Amino acid sequence: MTRMKYERVLLKLSGEALAGPYNFGIDPTTIKVISQEIVDVVEQGAEVALVIGGGNIFRGVSGSAKGMERSAADYMGMMATVMNAVAVQDNLEKLGLSTRVMSAITMREVAEPYIRRRAIRHLEKGRVVICAAGTGNPYFTTDTAAALRAMELGAQALLKATRVAGVYDKDPEQFPEAHLYKTLTYIQVLQEKLRVMDSAAISLCMDNDLPIIVFDLFEKGNIQRVTAGEAVGTLVQG
Ligand code: UDP
Repeated sequence: MTRMKYERVLLKLSGEALAGPYNFGIDPTTIKVISQEIVDVVEQGAEVALVIGGGNIFRGVSGSAKGMERSAADYMGMMATVMNAVAVQDNLEKLGLSTRVMSAITMREVAEPYIRRRAIRHLEKGRVVICAAGTGNPYFTTDTAAALRAMELGAQALLKATRVAGVYDKDPEQFPEAHLYKTLTYIQVLQEKLRVMDSAAISLCMDNDLPIIVFDLFEKGNIQRVTAGEAVGTLVQG
């Protein structure tokens, strides 16, 4: 086993990450690649909890923009995260990991209910805990759920996986000259409205001194580098 800086981490995977090159749904090739990265870091001895988004299937704000009641749309969004969680579970288990989907909305036939102490026990036993259905409340996001679960489960860092190398001053997919930040403070992120996570999630991390590492999920070995403490992507802290 390799010595690690972060032995227990919360990895936030957006729904978009699962869609790979497409705008919608789950891309089987992409989910396999992501799953293998998770397997590699678990085999190094890291304890991994995941929070999965749902934007590849449904987002509450889009539903409410089309006239749906916001809470109803948000519940649909939360259910979308459960579909993604089951897909990730299926892939991880095919690769030999032991996993549990724990849902913030009770769906006993599909997932265990999220119970903090039970989730910690699963992590201690080397199981990957896949947290589904966000916080279970409308008007929140899975970024906030990731910050919340990271704190509850005693994760030492929140790993925010993206498609780019880290946090930039402008969108690097549109502006090739964009500057990549190596480190940032929570306050900088909030004041400069940098696209890391939503402000509720950043504030929660700031109030509880939880470091956030934003990095490129699709560069092989990156999750392992982050847990080992290598300077990968952008580190956000106090
Ligand atoms: N959502 C919610 N409460 C939560 C987490 C998520 O209502 O605690 C809903 C919200 O509608 C959101 C959707 O679930 O748009 C999918 O989550 P999110 O947009 O955070 O997914 P991501 O952008 O990470 O794919």
